[in-house]
Amino acid sequence: MSKHEFQTEVDQLLHLIVHSLYSHPEIFLRELISNASDALDKLKYLTLTEDPYKSLAFEPRIDLELDEDQHKLTVGDTGIGMNDEDLASHLGTIARSGTKNFLSNLSGDAKRDSNLIGQFGVGFYSAFMVADRVDVISRKAGEERAWRWSSDGKSGYDIEPAERATQGTTVILYLNEEGKEYSNSWKLREIVKKYSNHIAFPIYLTADKSEWDEKEKKSVKKRTTEQINSASALWRRPKSELKDEDYKELYKTISGDWEDPGFWFHTRAEGTQEYTTLFFVPSKAPMDLYQANYKPGVKLYVKRVFITDESKDLLPAWLRFLRGIIDSEDLPLNVSREILQKNRILQNIRTASVKKLLSEFKSIATDKPEDYKKFIDEYNRPLKEGLYSDFGNREALLDLVRMKSTKAEGWTSLADAKSRMKEGQKGIYYITGGPEDVLRSSPLLEIYKKKDIEVLILDDEFDELVFGGLDKYQEIELKAVNKSATGEDLKDASEPDKTEDIKPLLEKIKAALGDHVKDVKVSMRLADSPSCIVSDADEPSMKMQQMLRAMGQERDIPQLKPTLEINPDHEIVKKLLGAGDDGLVNDAAWLLFEQALLIEGIPVDSPGAFVQRLNRVLSRAV
Ligand code: ADP
Repeated sequence: MSKHEFQTEVDQLLHLIVHSLYSHPEIFLRELISNASDALDKLKYLTLTEDPYKSLAFEPRIDLELDEDQHKLTVGDTGIGMNDEDLASHLGTIARSGTKNFLSNLSGDAKRDSNLIGQFGVGFYSAFMVADRVDVISRKAGEERAWRWSSDGKSGYDIEPAERATQGTTVILYLNEEGKEYSNSWKLREIVKKYSNHIAFPIYLTADKSEWDEKEKKSVKKRTTEQINSASALWRRPKSELKDEDYKELYKTISGDWEDPGFWFHTRAEGTQEYTTLFFVPSKAPMDLYQANYKPGVKLYVKRVFITDESKDLLPAWLRFLRGIIDSEDLPLNVSREILQKNRILQNIRTASVKKLLSEFKSIATDKPEDYKKFIDEYNRPLKEGLYSDFGNREALLDLVRMKSTKAEGWTSLADAKSRMKEGQKGIYYITGGPEDVLRSSPLLEIYKKKDIEVLILDDEFDELVFGGLDKYQEIELKAVNKSATGEDLKDASEPDKTEDIKPLLEKIKAALGDHVKDVKVSMRLADSPSCIVSDADEPSMKMQQMLRAMGQERDIPQLKPTLEINPDHEIVKKLLGAGDDGLVNDAAWLLFEQALLIEGIPVDSPGAFVQRLNRVLSRAV
């Protein structure tokens, strides 16, 4: 027998599961059954595709066995099994980075955290919520030897040789005080019905059943074995036969989520290609949505045979928040997982599914605005990613994304902004480059306020990247207000050009700032502020440059300079025009530039010099 310590993370995790996730201990059974089902899926796939396994006697089933007197519960499967190395690496370490993320994502709130358990697949350890010892006896398909892994969930685990007649895994739980509740066959049936009814394999329960014995005239216990789930691939049944509850249950089984899904879309395609898709939108965005190593949520089946849940190509990446199933009739069973990406049949399913989903999202937006708001609260960002990456669906996505606005409470759409356009308005305007409060107080908005024109507030970090790449929404130009050319739009033909009036001052400012700015111009867009900065149409804004630099891409972007715009009607500017003191004009030029940077959330190059200037000007004023 060999003794092993748990990896530190496992220790932490076990402690956490046992001590803070007590609110739903019953999920341990769902987790063990789902592991058994995965193991059967894996072996089924091999028996259909790989030579040495084709001859294997494979009778897929999951067996629960209850010994009420001993408080012993067994979950067995005839799946792929594990050898000693697998046992040590799968059950003794947390190899997957997902689980490490899980640990760092914990909130201390038991309900939220237990939700995470499924999402991060730390399912097996939940057995220690209800058991003070767990034995796992397993024999890997194609191998002769079996092994026993045994642990009390505290002091590491042991691995030793064992006996098992066929391939598969048996998990034996020695139920603790808390777990005694599950030493009851009715309870087990109830949990299986609730969470695992639609697992594609039969689940049997062997337990003592009380029956009336006519001869003895009393109730006697009889050992019986019965199938306790419906084992049907629910998604293959007609929609008319399915109830909301069926969908919700299936969702929870495949996603590990606690909560009901927000929506689901069940589609059956017949004709040139036959397939079924069932997609769920989780009501809360998955925790790993923004992690590069996110776990894909869609499982591929071929004629009800599970193929993979690891492909990131079944749907475009921006739809990675979906959970669900694609089941094709046309793919060969031995479709290699590596070439899924290039498979024509799958590509067609993918294209059609995206179209379908986009139209479903649109219907929700139109018919159920309250629900759509919740959807946007969670998924606006992935939709915007789609806008950036999924060129073919840009039109549809433009109708789905939502933004904040100077003219509307909460979320608004481009369609609404279009309907609010003023007579003669040259485009739909938007501002990017900072958090909402910074954007809302930007001097760049002053002229729009004055003219009562709407500006969309795009406060997501990558909005500039997304919207900068779009030029039109339904023939209407989308214009960033921080671009120099956009100011020209609002020029009033009746207003005289004031450049000449302040030309001497513009030249002095230019001389003072030297090559820190591209140009110094009269502004068309300011009302209350004396100055602002803008960029050229084809250049990233200052804020964007700052972001790219923060991401370590400074080598790729040249140091671009902004244009400083001056408000000719501002009191400071008027006074400066007449000022004879060159030292003061020089300080003022810098302060006009630096305040324009600061108000956009961009730090000044030298805070020390800035403060000195400020103090020189202040001391003259007091
Ligand atoms: P997850 O199932 O999400 O990967 P678990 O902690 O439940 O996380 O299981 C860890 C790993 O142990 C699984 O990925 C699988 O490789 C292995 N495993 C667990 N249960 C079984 C089983 N019944 N048969 C075969 N392998 C299993």
